Amino acid sequence: MSSRLESSVYGSRMKRAAAAARSAGLHALLITPGPDLQYLLGSRADSFERLTCLVVPADGAPVVVVPRLELAGLRPSAAEDLGLAVHDWVDGVDPYALVASLLTSPARTGISDTMPALHALPLAAECGAPQVLATPVLRELRMRKDSAELDALRRAGAAIDRVHARMGEWLRAGRTEAEVGADIGAAIVAEGHTAAEFIIVGSGPHGADPHHEVSERVIERGDVVVVDIGGPVEPGYFSDSTRTYCLGEPAPEVAAKYAVLQRAQQAGLDAVRPGVRAEQVDAACREVLAAEGLADAFVHRTGHGIGLSVHEEPYIVGGNGIELTEGMAFSIEPGIYFAGSWGARIEDIVLVTADGCEPVNVRPHALTVLPG
Ligand code: ZN
Ligand code: ZN
Ligand code: ZN
Repeated sequence: MSSRLESSVYGSRMKRAAAAARSAGLHALLITPGPDLQYLLGSRADSFERLTCLVVPADGAPVVVVPRLELAGLRPSAAEDLGLAVHDWVDGVDPYALVASLLTSPARTGISDTMPALHALPLAAECGAPQVLATPVLRELRMRKDSAELDALRRAGAAIDRVHARMGEWLRAGRTEAEVGADIGAAIVAEGHTAAEFIIVGSGPHGADPHHEVSERVIERGDVVVVDIGGPVEPGYFSDSTRTYCLGEPAPEVAAKYAVLQRAQQAGLDAVRPGVRAEQVDAACREVLAAEGLADAFVHRTGHGIGLSVHEEPYIVGGNGIELTEGMAFSIEPGIYFAGSWGARIEDIVLVTADGCEPVNVRPHALTVLPG
């Protein structure tokens, strides 16, 4: 490696990735545009039919293979700033053979899980050995955030909190979910995100669908509305926060069940500290709901890791025995869903600290009552 690369955060990530590939028995990692490339190279690039691929050999210097016409798109990135070797190729050249020529043959490689089949299959054929996903190799690195990454997640959390704080400006009876969603989307960008990645406005019965987006449904007085929103802030780290609103005072049954949900989410927050297993945090939320007869209303895992991807390791789910360590970042987002009727969810992103967790979302957890 060049000395500039050696001394950079990306150089050190690539070095650790190479070491992890070596211990996994792989000859190289092949990383196409996406969050893994962003993590290792500081460039998200774009994925098209022409191959862009970072080759991280278990032994030797990393190389980026890129179509000549995409060279500009790689800037600014580690490739240019740090003196990483770049092999550009022009139309008519076989880029898969070019990648294989950089490796021993046959080469056991780990590929990024977002690599399109368009590239994965020809690469496998050229490398002459079975490929595996690079995910298990890279998750050990990506799961434990450094201080710059944690700061980016804090900035993302504060930005999405500012959007939730303004919800009363847009969320009103008589408007459609889509109209409210459009205003939220503009605010997500105005408050510092580079884009609105997802906007869920689940009003009334739509709140019972955890992955509802927006629709033409007209929001009514008395509706419970689940608002789950997020997007990336520079350099690509995501926010993701859910609050539940009620247009007018909630019915007693809604208030009672919501109070249980709020206790469940708090139990999840309270369970987080280094050494605790991911599944224990999931169980902490689930037990509170189960004790009040709401076990069946909670139809998904408690949370997911977050960083350069909205959903990544560690998953906070039953059966995941991974121990939490300082620097991990994930959501705690229990929900309760009543098909055809209503739903509610509370979601914060938390950072694991030395003795607990630091939520990056600090908006009040209570059901927020807006004027009907
Ligand atoms: Zn989700
Ligand atoms: Zn969410
Ligand atoms: Zn989430």
